[in-house]
Order: sequence, then structure tokens, then C-alpha cells
Amino acid sequence: MTKPVVSVVAYSDPMETLRSALDLCDGLKGMNRSDKILLKPNLVSWDFKLPFPPYGVITTSSVMFALVQILYEEGFRNITIGEAPLMIPKPIGMAIYKQLGYEKLREKYGVELVDFNEDSFEEVDFGDFKLSIAKKALEADSIINLPVLKTHNQCQVSLGIKNLKGCLNRKSKMFCHGKDVDLDHMFPHIIEKLPVALTITDGVYTLAKGPGPTGNALRKNIIIASRDRLACDVVGAEIMGYSAPEVEHLKFYAKRHGLSTSLEDIEVRGEDLEKHRSYVDFDWEWTRDDTGPKGFAKRGITGVAIRKYDSSLCTGCSMMYNPMLILFMSAFKGQPFPNVEVLSGKRQKASPGYDYTILFGKCAWEQNKDNPNIKKAISIKKCPPGMEEFAEAVKEAGIECDLSQYVAYRHYIFNRYKKEDGFDMDMFTM
Ligand code: SF4
Repeated sequence: MTKPVVSVVAYSDPMETLRSALDLCDGLKGMNRSDKILLKPNLVSWDFKLPFPPYGVITTSSVMFALVQILYEEGFRNITIGEAPLMIPKPIGMAIYKQLGYEKLREKYGVELVDFNEDSFEEVDFGDFKLSIAKKALEADSIINLPVLKTHNQCQVSLGIKNLKGCLNRKSKMFCHGKDVDLDHMFPHIIEKLPVALTITDGVYTLAKGPGPTGNALRKNIIIASRDRLACDVVGAEIMGYSAPEVEHLKFYAKRHGLSTSLEDIEVRGEDLEKHRSYVDFDWEWTRDDTGPKGFAKRGITGVAIRKYDSSLCTGCSMMYNPMLILFMSAFKGQPFPNVEVLSGKRQKASPGYDYTILFGKCAWEQNKDNPNIKKAISIKKCPPGMEEFAEAVKEAGIECDLSQYVAYRHYIFNRYKKEDGFDMDMFTM
């Protein structure tokens, strides 16, 4: 049996690197010049108000631009770029494309730019459930998937298979984070309905404690490419130090298709994988008794039990979770908090014995609004909750947050990369 081929190429000049990655895995084989080609980067979010470090969070423009140029040189003329970034609350895809310089791709190569959130979706039947997938993705002849080599605090790694969740509408994304479903067993179905012909994993940067900008990015300088969607993710996971058979969604996808997650069943061409393998941590450490991040315990923060997020927390709330922790820290003045429990997502239930229960987001509120264990509920019912709203609501428990500390934190996470070599915003503009 022939093994799937995955190319692993050290990143230097973007055009040379991409060419080499495509040549080694015969990446364009099977695509016709007249095909409707959809490029699906990972552009999960952006922030136009506060500094946003994109390193390891979103696909670099350097890789995207090199790929488009190569496709154009090879004679492909019908190219679309599509993504459905997080809506906060309105679609921001076109603004992100502008920010990243993609408009030049439209001007120079006639590339169509689509924010799926502003386009049409089609309901697709998966048997036990239905999901609404972007029409442009369903109607493409071939999809080139451009995920980032990053970790994910809910599903260990976020690579090609995970990146296709960005083809869903908002409601279907939320459905994947449902109360009674397993996230790892939901999103792998999406790729099964899509004509993904090639995956190019952008490992110019990698991200610990991803998937958002509060994680820690590292310059990694690697590009992974394959026509085999699973094999590409197996190699990506291994390079980040994860044994692919132990990554639940990869295992699940492989089992459904009778495929292997073993590296031995993949032909890796190019770089020696072992040379690049190093562990990238995916999760925030929590106290054993689930009272909050270990960092809180180290700072002596007591009187609050922040229950660790689970996979029912969808991206909207996930993006607000870290800011919420920062606001808690800003309110800590050396004294214990007033016996507070904080719940989020769709599964957490209030415990007895707390004077205040903060219900972070609409789902936590719906889940607990009639819970008899709650003495005094502080409900932040927005979906997802905003920071101003949170700071205002928790005043009721005498918790005085300092919003300026959150702003300072955002500047800090952006500026920390300025001192490091290889962190260059030019990678995200052309
Ligand atoms: S409140 Fe949060 S977890 Fe619930 S649907 Fe909205 S974003 Fe998702």
C-alpha cells in the first residue's frame, strides 16, 4: 500500500519554501487550471480597538501571498479566499482582509475575497445532526486549507481538520460546542463534506496555549504540506510534540475512515521531523480542586472559585475568558474575594456554599437561572459577555475591576514580541 506523502520544509524565502513544499508532495496534482479553487486560511479573529498579536494565531500573509502567486503562475485563474471570522457582533472578514493586505491579491490576481458570514450557507445533513456550511466551500472544485501550526486549549491541536470549522455559520459553530455533544467528535465531520485537495500548514509561528492571541507564540519556521488531510495533521501534531493517536479528534477521524494515525504509515519528505519536534503546551494549568488558574493560587488570590472552562465554551466566550481573568486580577488588593463561584459554558452547575455566583455568558445563565444552590446570582447574559458589562456587574459583589489593566495587558502581550527576533508584523501585511 502506498503511504500518504507529507512534505516538511524549513521556511526561508516564502516562494521558494512553498514551491519546495508543493513539489515534494506533488501538491497541485489533481487540480485543473479551470477549477474553482477556494483558499481557506485561519483568520479566526482580529481586534481593531486594541493591539492584536497575530503570531501563531492566524495564517501569515507571506504564506498566503506566495501560494496565490504560485497558483497564478501555474495558470489557476478562479481563486477565492474565504473565512468566517468571529463576529463581534458584526462580520469583520473584509476588514481583516484589508488589514492583511489581501486587497492586493484581488487587484493583482483577481482573487475573490469572501467573508462567509456575509455570504450564503447551506444546511448539510450529517445523519444525527445538521450543520450550515458556507456555499462557497461546498461549491468549490478544490479547497486548499491553510491552517496554522497551533495548539488549542480545548482540543490539544488546531490544524487542518479543525480549521474547516471556520466554514460554518455562527449557529452551527455554537452547536459544535453543545452541552451534550463532544467537540472532538463534531468538527471532524465537516471536512468529510468538503473537497479539500491540499493542506498547507503554516508553521512560520507556532502557538502555545492557543488558539487566541493570549497564547505564547514561538517562531518555528516550518511549512507542512500534503494532499492527505489526516496525514498532514498527524505530522503537525507530532511536530508540536503530540502523539497523534492520542489526539482525540484525529483518532476519531481516522477510525471513521479506517485510516492510521501512525507516523510509520506516512512518508515524510524534506526535513527530518525529529529535528523539529518539540512540545508546545496547549492548556492553562488549574488548581486540583478546580478553584482557578494555578497563577491565581501563586499570587495568593482566594475567596473565588473559577471553574475551568470546558469544550462547551464556544470561541466567543473563550476569547473573553482570559480578559475576565485579567479583570479579576486587577480587582485583587490582597484581601480574599467575597466567596464567589464563577461558571461558564453550557455544562457547569452552581455548587452550594457560595455567597455569589457569577454566570459568565448567556449559556451559564440559562443552565443555572433556577439553580437552588445559588444564593445571589450575578448574571452576565450577553453572548458572548463584554468586559465593561462584566466589570459593572461584579461591582454588586464588591469586586472593583480596573478596565485599564486589561488594556495594559493587551499592550503587554503585543509588545512582548517586539523584543524578540523573527516577530515581524510585515509577515501579516504585504
Ligand atoms: S454565551 Fe458563550 S458559550 Fe454560550 S453561546 Fe454565547 S459565546 Fe457560546
